[in-house]
Amino acid sequence: MANNHSISGFLTLAEEILIPVVPDSLKRGESTQAVHGGRSENPYHSITEPLVSTATFTFENTQAVKTYMQNKLWGEPLDRSEYGRYGNPTITAAESRLAALEGAEEAVLFASGMQAISTLLLSLLAAGDHLVITENLYRKTRQFCTATLQRYGIECSVVPMNDEQALRQAIRPNTRLLFSESPTNPHNRLLDIEQFITIAKQHHLLTVVDSTFATPFNLRPLEWGVDLVVHSATKYLAGHNDLLAGVVAGRHELLAGLREFQGIVGAISDAYVASLLIRGLKTLGLRVQRHNENARRIAEFLAAHPAVERVWYPSLPSHPDYAIGLRQYKGFGGVVSFTVKGDGNSAAQVLDALQIPLLAVSLGGTESLVSQPAVISYYELSRQERRALGIEDNLIRYSVGIEDADDLIADLDQALRKV
Ligand SMILES: *Cc1c(COP(=O)(O)O)cnc(C)c1O
Repeated sequence: MANNHSISGFLTLAEEILIPVVPDSLKRGESTQAVHGGRSENPYHSITEPLVSTATFTFENTQAVKTYMQNKLWGEPLDRSEYGRYGNPTITAAESRLAALEGAEEAVLFASGMQAISTLLLSLLAAGDHLVITENLYRKTRQFCTATLQRYGIECSVVPMNDEQALRQAIRPNTRLLFSESPTNPHNRLLDIEQFITIAKQHHLLTVVDSTFATPFNLRPLEWGVDLVVHSATKYLAGHNDLLAGVVAGRHELLAGLREFQGIVGAISDAYVASLLIRGLKTLGLRVQRHNENARRIAEFLAAHPAVERVWYPSLPSHPDYAIGLRQYKGFGGVVSFTVKGDGNSAAQVLDALQIPLLAVSLGGTESLVSQPAVISYYELSRQERRALGIEDNLIRYSVGIEDADDLIADLDQALRKV
């Protein structure tokens, strides 16, 4: 045995010296990446990233200031910051871990998912530009694209998910970018990322995908050729329902302008949040595995239950994007949406009878959460407007946590018996 070890050790060493190989870090599995990826040494040799809580940073003397400013002007890599709005070591540490997880050159951290999305789009688009978004986007993203951006002279078209012809027809001479989300909220529609990229490349358009529901464990959009991936890190990445954050990841060339814009508009996260986020990221692999597995089992249970009308989870052959899921996704995350037989009151009865999940919006945390979209996220709309978005009154969104699936299923069973 000892002999074998030394031989293989020798070969590995020789390979590294003689042949250019893929860096080891790129060959590692996602769980290893989540624990170690993007980690850098720090002056204290602490295993955790130091939490640097400061508004500004000191310089030794004027020459040190000049050297720093010159490096900054010439776009040299900076190993320090000058002021909290332009950078913070704890935030940089979180960004480098997030970049490693997405296989990106760089990542930029924000105070929330919506701040990441809105700052990114404002930095990329100008008056006279046009963008195309897919239907079923996170509701505030859609509002930002169709209403807010319009006030700044930026036009937006909305096309159905995976409708190749509609997407091609929506593209105009002034179209700059395509924005999509996958899986979507609450119906778990999956973007056919291959089709999306093919069309974007033919028209030389930038592509942005909100991958919050997927996590880098189930889909890595950049590997499919997407330019920029965004997340509400509030959800799975942080994973504990204890903070809000957002991230944009992609090539340095595309993010340099965003970073500068971030310094102008002040759309920054903070060091304490960044350190909590790093802590959450380390268990991402374990958590997503459990979310995937729990949600799949619950979806199967619900699909066979007589009190349930329809279940929206892509591991089920009845889901419209089942085939895309098999080809492009490694798992489908923790959100299971379903309609119960009956009306909105029946759904409310089930919700109120559930004993384990907590009644709250949001998703992606350790705790299971449930909500009835018609009475919370879409409450101010008329029933007709809700129906147009596919939000039926009897729809329940179940964000499955990391509890024991058997307990969650038994709990659902007793609640469904009450209607
Ligand atoms: C929650 C969410 C957002 C918004 O993120 P915040 O962190 O709440 O600002 C955007 N996109 C998706 C898919 C989300 O689930």
